[in-house]
Amino acid sequence: MKVLVVGGTGYMGKRIVKASLAGGHTTYVLRRQEIGVDIEKLQTLLSFKADGARLVEASFDDHRSLVEAVQLVDIIVSAISGVHFRSHHILLQLKLVQAIKEAGNIKRFVPSEFGIDPSKMSHALEPGKETFDEKMRVRKAIEDANIPFTYVSANCFAGYFVGGLCQPGKITPSWESVSLLGDGNVRAIFVDEDDIAAYTIRMMNDPRTLNKTVYIRPPENILSQRQVVGHWEKLINRVLEKTSISGENFLTIMKGMDHAQQAGLGHYYHIFYEGCLTNFDIGDDGEEASELYPEINYVRVDEYLKRYL
Ligand code: NDP
Repeated sequence: MKVLVVGGTGYMGKRIVKASLAGGHTTYVLRRQEIGVDIEKLQTLLSFKADGARLVEASFDDHRSLVEAVQLVDIIVSAISGVHFRSHHILLQLKLVQAIKEAGNIKRFVPSEFGIDPSKMSHALEPGKETFDEKMRVRKAIEDANIPFTYVSANCFAGYFVGGLCQPGKITPSWESVSLLGDGNVRAIFVDEDDIAAYTIRMMNDPRTLNKTVYIRPPENILSQRQVVGHWEKLINRVLEKTSISGENFLTIMKGMDHAQQAGLGHYYHIFYEGCLTNFDIGDDGEEASELYPEINYVRVDEYLKRYL
C-alpha cells in the first residue's frame, strides 16, 4: 500500500514510519514547510529518506499542498501531537480531513488518537477533557465526510507509564519508594510504543478493522499499578517503600497545578482511580489488536522494565 504518515517526526510518528517501511509499504512522510531550521527534525526526515521513505512537502496553511500530498497515497496515518505538556494540535487534522474529502481517493484514514477511547470520556475532568473533545470533533468530521477510518485506542504508552511505575511526573522507576494511586489495584493496560506502531500498520488495510475502533489490549499487559511495581521489585530483588494517595488528595493536588499538568493528571485520574481503560467490554464496533494479530510478539511489562536496570 501507499501510506502517508503525518506527524512523522514525533514520538509516535517516527515509530509508525519505521513500522510502515518494515511492512514493505511505500511510505510517504509529510515534510511541513514550517519546520524552518529545525535541524533535528530535518535530520530525522532525511534518515527516513535514507531508509526508503519519500518526503512530501506540504503545509497545513496551504490546502492545495495537502490535497496533492493526499492524492499520492491510499492510506493516511496521522500521529499529530496531542499531549498538553508537549504540544497539542489535534484540531489541525480538520484541515487534513477537508483535503482527504476533496481528494476522494483515500481508502483508510487513521487519525491521531492512540490513547484512551475518547468516545467513552464525555464525563472527563477539565482541562484534560479537551483532548477527548477534540479527538471526537475530528471523528465527527471524518464520519460526516464518509471517509473510511480506523480508530486506534492504544491505552498507556509504556514509556510514560511503565517507566515511572505509573506515577505522574516520573518516567524512570525508583529503587527506593513508590507512591500508589489509591489502593494501586485498578487495572490499566500498557503497550510498548513500537508495538502500537506495528499493530497500527497491520490494521490500517485490514477489512476487519474498517470503520471500527481497535483496542490494543495485550492480555499479559493488563495490570494494576501494584502488579507493575511487583514486576520491578522482582527485577531489582528488593521491596519498595509504598505510600498511597487518595483520589480526593490527588484531585486537590491537581487543582494547584498549571494547565498542562492538570490536563495530564486528569487522564491519570481516569485511568488509575476510575479504571477507564478496563471498565468496559469491547462492543460490535470494536476489535482487539492482539487477537487480530497473534503473530505480533508484544513486549511484556517485565521485559520492558529491564531496560531501566
Ligand atoms: P508529538 O508531541 O511527538 O508530536 C507529533 C507531531 O505533531 C510532531 O512531530 C509534528 O509533526 C506535529 N506537530 C507538532 N506541532 C505542530 C504544529 N504546530 N503544526 C503541525 N504539526 C505539528 O506527539 P505524540 O507522539 O506525543 O502524540 C501522538 C498521539 O499519541 C496524540 O494523539 C497523543 O494524544 C497520543 N499520546 C498517547 C499517549 C498514551 O499514553 N496513550 C501518550 C502520548 C501521546 P512533524 O513536525 O513531523 O510534521
